[in-house]
Amino acid sequence: MGRLFFLTPVPPVAGLARGNYLLILGSMKTIDLRSDTVTRPSPEMRQVMMTAEVGDDVFGDDPTVIKLEEYVAALFEKEAALYVPSGTMANQVCLRANSQPGWELLCDRECHIVNYEVAGPVVHSGLLVNLITTEYGMISAEVVRHSIRPKNVHCPLTKMVALENTHNHHGGTILPHDEILRVRQVCDEFDLIFHLDGARIWNAHVATGIPLAELAAPFDSVSVCLSKGLGAPIGSVVMGSAEFISKCHRQRKLFGGGMRQVGIIAAAGLHAVSNNIARLAEDHANARLLAEGLAQMAPFDVDMARVQTNIVIVKIRPGWTVENLLEKMKASGLLAVPFWSEKIRFVTHLDVSREDCQEALSRIESIVG
Ligand SMILES: *Cc1c(COP(=O)(O)O)cnc(C)c1O
Repeated sequence: MGRLFFLTPVPPVAGLARGNYLLILGSMKTIDLRSDTVTRPSPEMRQVMMTAEVGDDVFGDDPTVIKLEEYVAALFEKEAALYVPSGTMANQVCLRANSQPGWELLCDRECHIVNYEVAGPVVHSGLLVNLITTEYGMISAEVVRHSIRPKNVHCPLTKMVALENTHNHHGGTILPHDEILRVRQVCDEFDLIFHLDGARIWNAHVATGIPLAELAAPFDSVSVCLSKGLGAPIGSVVMGSAEFISKCHRQRKLFGGGMRQVGIIAAAGLHAVSNNIARLAEDHANARLLAEGLAQMAPFDVDMARVQTNIVIVKIRPGWTVENLLEKMKASGLLAVPFWSEKIRFVTHLDVSREDCQEALSRIESIVG
């Protein structure tokens, strides 16, 4: 795609009178691929927010929140659901509601719960976390079985397993459902609680065609984000049995997450979950386009096997640095994030089109070409 010419009004500076126009070469539109959290509410979404019926949700009086919780619980065929402000709170409320201090939790080493929730499992719940190294985010049933400690006076009690689907740090990878079912069997055998961080479960559903209810069925507790690919400004939902959700209710209050006339934002979540699931297929196609384009360019080592949904993580080859590339990209109006020291992550979403991704590739090409 060719460069665009913009006539841009310039502020009055030395030598230029007010009202002058400057011809600027280059496209001005910022293409923000940092995360699928950067989307802004659409006009339709703002409209439903403006007209939302509200009440005091701490009294259980907000009809829009109740509607959202019932809608999401039905979608996942779980007994009950609870609206919470963030995905981090969603995971932490689930862990705390279902655990006792000193229990051991098995997690993939790269998971969000461990890397991006500020030591939440130990601070909030006193959990010992056993970090399991995996290739694509899946902890196999065999590994779970072998990680369970003997029940004796010396050992912590291995009591919980948490999985993340899709897996952010592994590149938006989808966990194999058959293997999840096998982990469920081990959980049944050893009386373990099974948690799903399903911040991006929507993407796994759209990419595999497996119904959301089926993806969630093996888990005792599930957290999902409305503010990632679905495009709501705020909000997550936790799900499980009615008894579990009533415990979560108490934990949410403890975390300071009881909100009042919150139907005003729950309305955006309801709009998002009602309208924006199927279109995630476009984000997946756009991520693939981006990955294939980047794979053609010298600095980027792209593992195409990991490009399964809306995330593209590229490794930077020697001779280039993450900082330098990100800086040049930023100067050309293109945003992405560093992932550890040698990787860059791009995420496609509701607010970037196929044309934007093509434009992003041509801007990167002109930086590195
Ligand atoms: C974004 C995300 C969360 C929640 O993060 P918040 O910043 O609290 O919204 C949880 N798990 C995963 C895998 C995520 O990507």
